[in-house]
Amino acid sequence: MSSIAIDGPAGAGKSSIAKALSKRLGYIYIDTGAMYRAVALFFVENNVSDGTDSRIESLLEKLEISIKYEDGAQKVILNGEDVTGKLRLEEIGKLASKFSAIGSVREKLVALQRKLAQKENVVMDGRDIATTVLPNADVKIFLTAKPHTRALRRYKELLEKGMEADINDIEADIIKRDERDMNREISPLRQATDAYVVDSSDKDLDDTLTEILFYVKRKFDERS
Ligand code: C5P
Repeated sequence: MSSIAIDGPAGAGKSSIAKALSKRLGYIYIDTGAMYRAVALFFVENNVSDGTDSRIESLLEKLEISIKYEDGAQKVILNGEDVTGKLRLEEIGKLASKFSAIGSVREKLVALQRKLAQKENVVMDGRDIATTVLPNADVKIFLTAKPHTRALRRYKELLEKGMEADINDIEADIIKRDERDMNREISPLRQATDAYVVDSSDKDLDDTLTEILFYVKRKFDERS
């Protein structure tokens, strides 16, 4: 099986690139952030407010996450319910960043992610894919952009959805989330030493995709 790992901070464009790339290559796209978001939703629904709650381990035993695909789009199933539509809220993203620092949460999700990559050719995006989940991935990309650019993209996305947003709040949240993701003890957000780094600050989606496709092709040519 072949795998492409895409890591990077929030709002760098990982999911748009990973989706487009998987379509081009005929691979399955796995959005690991959505899995951490589903865990956050599960904890919120069970009134867990932080990682010190003593019920976390027993709740994790009752947590079942799986993914399925509908018209090529990933759906996240949490204990039998399709929760995909509830996962993109800013608040859930923030909580996912908090709960994703818990070792047992990561263990459970990393095992699931590895299992998925054993069965299919995948493009997987997240924070620790190249460093921890799939250290032998065929291609490793680290996609980043300046915090202000990432905040602006998120701001426009929210406005397009008819939601209210404040650009300064979004930028402050993004910076906080990056800090937490980079400084946690287990599998922090890190650039793998053998990753190809792409800064999308001054590039649109098409240009970024072209650059990445070019690199992927080069890596595949080297392999064959
Ligand atoms: O990518 P997304 O914004 O959906 O991820 C939500 C949060 O889940 C991140 O801020 C990060 O804390 C966590 N995450 C992670 N490891 C991954 C993917 C996401 O810790 N592989």
